[in-house]
This record gives sequence, C-alpha cells and structure tokens, in this order.
Amino acid sequence: MNDDNLLIRIKKYNTEKKSEKNKHVLYWVQRGLRIDYNYSLKLAIDEANSFNLPLLVFFSLKEIKNANWRQYQFLKQGILELKEKLENLGANFFLKKVDSFLDDLKILDDASLVIVDFGYLRSQRSFINFLIKKISTPVYVVENNTFFPINLLSDKKVNFAFQIRKKIFELIPYFLKKFSISEVKNKEKIINQSIDDIEKQFNLLKFKDKVLPSKFIGGESQADKYLKEFIEEKLSFYKQFRSDPGKDYQSNLSPYLHFGFISPVKIVYGISKHYSLKDENFISFLNELLVWRELSHNFVYYEQNYNNWKNLPKWSITSLDKHALDKRDYVYDLKHLEKGLTHDKYWNACQKEMILTGKMHNYMRMYWAKKVIEWSLDWKKAYQWLVYLNDKYELDGRDPNGYAGIAWSFGQFDHPWGERKIFGMVRYMNEKGLERKFDMQVYLQKIESLNKNS
Ligand SMILES: Cc1cc2nc3c(=O)[nH]c(=O)nc-3n(C[C@H](O)[C@H](O)[C@H](O)COP(=O)(O)OP(=O)(O)OC[C@H]3O[C@@H](n4cnc5c(N)ncnc54)[C@H](O)[C@@H]3O)c2cc1C
Repeated sequence: MNDDNLLIRIKKYNTEKKSEKNKHVLYWVQRGLRIDYNYSLKLAIDEANSFNLPLLVFFSLKEIKNANWRQYQFLKQGILELKEKLENLGANFFLKKVDSFLDDLKILDDASLVIVDFGYLRSQRSFINFLIKKISTPVYVVENNTFFPINLLSDKKVNFAFQIRKKIFELIPYFLKKFSISEVKNKEKIINQSIDDIEKQFNLLKFKDKVLPSKFIGGESQADKYLKEFIEEKLSFYKQFRSDPGKDYQSNLSPYLHFGFISPVKIVYGISKHYSLKDENFISFLNELLVWRELSHNFVYYEQNYNNWKNLPKWSITSLDKHALDKRDYVYDLKHLEKGLTHDKYWNACQKEMILTGKMHNYMRMYWAKKVIEWSLDWKKAYQWLVYLNDKYELDGRDPNGYAGIAWSFGQFDHPWGERKIFGMVRYMNEKGLERKFDMQVYLQKIESLNKNS
C-alpha cells in the first residue's frame, strides 16, 4: 500500500479489535461502485493480498423512502458492470436485498477485516457507527468519493465558498496522482451469485410511483464515456455556455458521481492531461466540481439540519418570516407543482425535464427552487416540497449537492440582497432574467422534443 492519496483517506476505527475469523477480507461497498480510483477497493485488495485471503465485495440493497424505480435501474446497470469487473480481478461479489442493518450483519461471519466507504449523510453515518459498535471485526472506513478528505478543508462548517476556494486550488496538484490497482492473488470462489439472482433481489423492491426510464445508463464505463465527451467536445466552451439551459455544455457527470461510478480525482486527473490548471474553462469547472461539491459535503457533514429550513442563517429566516403574509400572485400546492401545472412555461418545462430525464439543467434548478418559494403560502413547507421532489425525481437526488443547492435557494452560503416582497432579503430570480440571458425558446423546444420522444 504505497499511495499517499489512499493513506490520507483512511479513517481507522475499531482496528485494535482482532478477528477470530480469517477466511476472507470483506469490502462492504456503499458508493464506490467502480474499479478505477476506488481507494476502498485498493485497500481491500492490498489487505487481502498481504494475508493471501480471498476478497468478498458485498452490496446491501435497501429500499429508500421516496426513491424510484429509475434510480434503482441506474444503480442496477452499474452493479452488473461492477460485478463482472470485480470477478475479472479475482474478487467475489454478492448483493442482497435487506430490510435493516441487522440482516446485513450475517455477511460478516468469517471476515478477518471489513473495509467500508465513508458517507456524509445522516443515514450513511449512522450505518457506519452501527457497524463499528456492533461487530468484533476490525473496520477501516475510507473517504472514497470526495476529492479531499473532509477535515483537510475545514474542521467546521464553511459558510461561504470563498472561504475554501484558495486552499482548494493550492491543494489540487498534490492529489493529482495516477491510480493503479492489483489483482486479488487468492482467487478462491467463495460465493457464486448469478445475474438472475441479482435481478431477483432488485425485483423484491416495491415502488409506489413508476417514473419513466432515463436516457442515462448507469455504470463506470458510461461515466468514462461522458468524461471523454466532456473533455473532447464541451470543456473549451464550459465557462461561456454552462449556464445556458438551451445548450448542452455541462458534463452530465452528477448522477455518476452520486452513485460513485466515477471519482472526482479521476475526473480532475483526466482533464489535467489535456488542460492546464490555469485554463479559464478548467478553473470554472473546478469551481463547481471541487469548490461547490466539496462545500456541499462539508455542509451535510457539519450541519445536522442539512435537509430542512433550520439550517438557514438567521437573517434569511427572519426575513422570510417577516414576509410570510405578503400577497402571492400565484399559489400552488404540491400536486400542481409535481405535475408541472403552473402558469409559468419555463418552470413547467424544467419540472418536465426532471420528470422525463432525471436531470434538470443546473441554471433551471436555481429558478425552479426560487419559484416554489414565491408560490407557496408557507416557505417552510416549500423547503420540504423541494427536498421531496428533488430526491424523488433527480437521478443525482439524495446527494449533498442537492441539499446544499436547496439551502442556497433560501439564502444559505449567500448574502442578504435588497428587500422585496415574499423573499425579503433572499436572492430572487424571475423569467425576465432568463429571457435576458438566454434564448429560452431553444430550451422550450428542447423540452417539447423530449415530450414527443417519451
Ligand atoms: C435547487 C438545486 C438542487 C440541486 N440538486 C442537486 C442534486 O440533487 N444533485 C446534484 O448532484 N447536484 C444538485 N444541484 C447542483 C447542480 O445543479 C448539479 O450538480 C449540476 O447541474 C449537475 O450537472 P452536471 O454534472 O452536468 O454539472 P457540471 O456543470 O458538469 O458540473 C460538474 C460537477 O460539479 C458539481 N456541481 C456543479 N454545480 C454544483 C453546485 N451548484 N453545487 C454543488 N456541486 C455542483 C457536480 O458534482 C457536477 O456533477 C442542485 C442545485 C440546485 C440550485
């Protein structure tokens, strides 16, 4: 194990415990659904090889409240690719649908060591805490899905992006290292699960609403395809066009980052082979992928209330409360919003974009959230509705970025603006702004054509 980029990511937990059992090493994969730049997998293989043990990679499939069929399809596509690649490396893979953590624990029998991906959200952290407390086997937790280990940037909540931007750009070069991974030496087959059985496990999941399939296909190779396309065709226009919803100059990598089909280190390392760190388009992209994304991880890590209004700064709560009784020109309930039945053609279009594709354009996400605040009688309810819709329909939903993005729409990470009705001092957006900046007819046509094709 000779990789600084890996060593700095390992959070050691109950490693003083000694396991009685030593039949295999277990990697309990969470969001490391890839081979390349998977630091947890690298550690698991290195450990298995040092004891000449086989490696078992385990995924526990859980039903998540309000998750939808499309998100699980995307996950399944990536899982099937991962299984094949792991087996080619000499590892074993096993997936099981489980109802609770307790079901999962049986898989730990015979493991000499457990390696698990760290997660920043409450549910992910409580799983890890539970695991560490409950089992007698040594556990290593690896920060596998951020560019930097969280504490390196700050040991407390960061309030504004500018507070970490300089540090991030200074640190990037130290993390740009080529990744390599070995095969498992002991290739003993300890489990042989068929693809049919994995399909069966997924079929045990139940969904209330069946949403439409997405054009995005899950998996590491698809993530690589989007990265290649981004480097070759889009990045040199990123700064100029990334915000234009009628154009397609974003990377489309967010669903892949969310499920861990690609690592941010791989993305930045890959781009750095073609672009200088001083290139303005690369800087603009890094500002999103590293500054805003890492800030979002810092937010959910240090802020308990990351998915409700209680996280907001005092000035924004006071200001929104002060204007709570202001007259609204339009008021909609969740049902109307969910169906995209408002008077605003741009809002309806972006809601449709999310429902039909599972990925709304970045600029429209800001507009989308701001309008829900404007049209709701209760801004605190608006907050809940946004979290609900975002998590339910976006392929990249239930992500630190989503919780931070919604919080931003209510004033988090922002400063007070001039006072106005309903919003108070929270930043406002309107359709005239969209029309001034972009050719919105192009966006409407783009969404109209999605409608026809679906
Ligand atoms: C109300 C609202 C809700 C959002 N919900 C989500 C969500 O559920 N999941 C999600 O991943 N992002 C969310 N975002 C952030 C952003 O809109 C998406 O990350 C971006 O549109 C993803 O598309 P892309 O990968 O093509 O972006 P690109 O422009 O290619 O950016 C590359 C990467 O940088 C990161 N990034 C870009 N913009 C932001 C941002 N504003 N904040 C944090 N990271 C960013 C993402 O990881 C993204 O994949 C939300 C933003 C807002 C305002």
